[in-house]
Amino acid sequence: MVVGAGPAGSAAALRARQLRPEARVLLLDREDFPRDKACGDGIAAHGRDELARLGLPGLIDDHRPTRRLEVVSPGGERVHATVARPNHVVPRRVFDARLVEAARARGVEVRRHRVRALAERGPHVLVDGVFAARAVVAADGANSTVRRLLGLPATPERHTAIAVRGYAEVPAGDDVQLIAMQREGWPAYAWSFPVGDGSANVGFGMLLPRLQACDLPGRRVLHGRLAELLPHLPARDLRAHRLPLSCGRPRPGAGRVMLAGDAASLINPLTGEGIYYALLSGRLAGEAAVRAAGDPLPAYRRALRGALGRHLRTTDVLARAARSPGFIDAAIAVASRRREVFDLLVEVGLGAGTVPPRLAGAVAGRWLLDGLRLRGR
Ligand SMILES: Cc1cc2nc3c(=O)[nH]c(=O)nc-3n(C[C@H](O)[C@H](O)[C@H](O)COP(=O)(O)OP(=O)(O)OC[C@H]3O[C@@H](n4cnc5c(N)ncnc54)[C@H](O)[C@@H]3O)c2cc1C
Repeated sequence: MVVGAGPAGSAAALRARQLRPEARVLLLDREDFPRDKACGDGIAAHGRDELARLGLPGLIDDHRPTRRLEVVSPGGERVHATVARPNHVVPRRVFDARLVEAARARGVEVRRHRVRALAERGPHVLVDGVFAARAVVAADGANSTVRRLLGLPATPERHTAIAVRGYAEVPAGDDVQLIAMQREGWPAYAWSFPVGDGSANVGFGMLLPRLQACDLPGRRVLHGRLAELLPHLPARDLRAHRLPLSCGRPRPGAGRVMLAGDAASLINPLTGEGIYYALLSGRLAGEAAVRAAGDPLPAYRRALRGALGRHLRTTDVLARAARSPGFIDAAIAVASRRREVFDLLVEVGLGAGTVPPRLAGAVAGRWLLDGLRLRGR
């Protein structure tokens, strides 16, 4: 059984049926699809790889691939380059509904149902007293009810971000994904991700403790900063949500329940990317559910560690270093001159990349130099 039909839940259900077409897979969500979800809608090339693994290589082929990426660091360093593999921007209203439809077409039973209770019953988990399953994938998002019912702690506030997104009109030819980082209230950044149809997903996000420190209504701060940073792109349909950022070691679940995607706090702490992790972790949970149905959690934990372990530890270390905006200035400055560094930053920010020691040395060297220069002034 799968709780939550976002990318993580649909991936789990799709994978289970892909591996075992006769398996009975129930996918529950509290909402009907299509439904909106606060998101930047950016799907990295790595996410498309996951779609291919799930047997859906063409799912978003009708959306324009975007290769151009511009990143402005908190101190104004700028890199504008073409990514090695294109990203896509697909509104979640469309993307998630397509995944659910694909799951249904593969024989998954999809039901609208809000999960409220969980109990162990011998070799089964009993959900809301009516659904019994040998394995459960909890993919019910950032405020996961299932995680709470398991007694597992929520993501600490210092590892939680909050972001607002809206849609703005842009010229149809605009194909540059812009990420503009902010020194004020760092870490914080605004984005504009053109969809390719004359609109762009625009947004602004920051860490929750920084927002709370503003001592103003959250909505006023987020909407205000977005309007201030992208004044030429007035946004409609504003919607905000929490981002549970990875702190390096995900809690994969308890007993027969596996947590995937945001429910497992799997969001890249450097970029806020979570769709790729959701698809990947959902797929691995779906695999464990059918291949090790009697005791799926150890298999899932191992698979997750194998796929993302080193990467998550890398992003955790980098996120700590990045608390100093000078570190990001140095990284972007180096990336603007060295193509291989730019490519690597994309791999770390959007995929499962790690940082070779030589590169870490180059960035740290530049960071140190900038720091000494500042002190010498
Ligand atoms: C503003 C913002 C911008 C972002 N931008 C990007 C981006 O550009 N690219 C990117 O990769 N990531 C982005 N992210 C992160 C991304 O949105 C998430 O990581 C991703 O949605 C996680 O997928 P998921 O399947 O784990 O959870 P979700 O997509 O949140 O799906 C969870 C599902 O569970 C259902 N549910 C919840 N509770 C219950 C219950 N009790 N019973 C039944 N169903 C339930 C919900 O209805 C929902 O459908 C952004 C996040 C935010 C907030």
